[in-house]
Amino acid sequence: LFAGCGSKDTGTSGSTDTGSGTEQPAGGSGLAIGIVLPTKEEPRWVQDEARFKAALEGTGYSAEILFSQGDSAREKQNVETLIAKGIKVLIITPHDGGAAAAAVEAAKEEGITVISYDRLVTNTDAVDYYITFNSVSVGEAQGQYLVDQLESGSTGNNLYLYAGAATDNNAFLFFEGAWNVLQPKIADGTFVVKNSTKAVELKDKATLTREEMGQIIEQVTTDWKPEVAKSKSESHITAAPPQGKTYILAPNDGTSRAIYDQFAKESGIEIFITGQDAEVPSIQYVIDGKQSMTVLKDVRDLVLGAIQTATDVLEGKEVETNGLYDNGKVEVKAKDIKVITVTQDNVQDTIIGSGYYEASEFTGL
Ligand code: BGC
Repeated sequence: LFAGCGSKDTGTSGSTDTGSGTEQPAGGSGLAIGIVLPTKEEPRWVQDEARFKAALEGTGYSAEILFSQGDSAREKQNVETLIAKGIKVLIITPHDGGAAAAAVEAAKEEGITVISYDRLVTNTDAVDYYITFNSVSVGEAQGQYLVDQLESGSTGNNLYLYAGAATDNNAFLFFEGAWNVLQPKIADGTFVVKNSTKAVELKDKATLTREEMGQIIEQVTTDWKPEVAKSKSESHITAAPPQGKTYILAPNDGTSRAIYDQFAKESGIEIFITGQDAEVPSIQYVIDGKQSMTVLKDVRDLVLGAIQTATDVLEGKEVETNGLYDNGKVEVKAKDIKVITVTQDNVQDTIIGSGYYEASEFTGL
């Protein structure tokens, strides 16, 4: 079920040594913190790396960041490399939540504290903490944006649904959130889903089981890959040509740009399309009026949450959490972080004003 779907392995990795070693806790001759991120192919995770490096400076702890390049075997190897270097804390974003169980179990056996970062490692009790954005609220923000763009009283509006990779627990949480908001409008005929027979079949169910969500996701997954999003949307456009106002639930920025570019080739339609991550190229798309919105998940906060947790563990302090997430086996204690909707109207404040990116990275602001 959770078989890895590896993409290419470019062999890239990054590392950072932030500490002089003098502030290491007793017995800490080796590396203190190991960080494993899923891929360098998406700006999202490259940004996490940069923000980790910036935040680790001055903590006095040594850390190393390795990338798994969309490959669960590579990910396991990365964890083993870090275990061999003596890490006390592992921070990991799994490529495939289920497949990563073996890797974190290996770490746990060595007494290492395991922190799931952004994506939950599933079906294992070897996860100590989960540092995450509130992913259900990400999906709700996307759904709400689309609902807010409806002309009041209109019916039969085209809706195209897309989802993330079924190997990523977040894909389910995002979809659940979007469904919470969209479902009543699908059930009453305001929206008509054009590209998922399963979603149409289940349209009267306010709450879907994980299995039912899985059935819809299977039909409309992008696998988190822009090229998959591109080819799927091309065939959906052919099978059910969009007309007039066209509403598209795209799960993240990379897939949103790919889907937008396909729909934008059609004439006579008006596109409303979601995203998430506030990737630089998508912020430009938002400024240009192409992608309609994105969800800002401030990676600075996520990184701080992870480092705070790691240093609390290293210093024997109690870790503060504010949520619980079921990973299929146990309820994992979580730090749950809020998100912000970004549109053309508030991009200046939310993205530039907040210091998230420099204005000079964009044109037409
Ligand atoms: C993350 C998103 C990201 C997606 C694809 C999800 O687990 O939460 O931020 O866009 O994976 O990498």
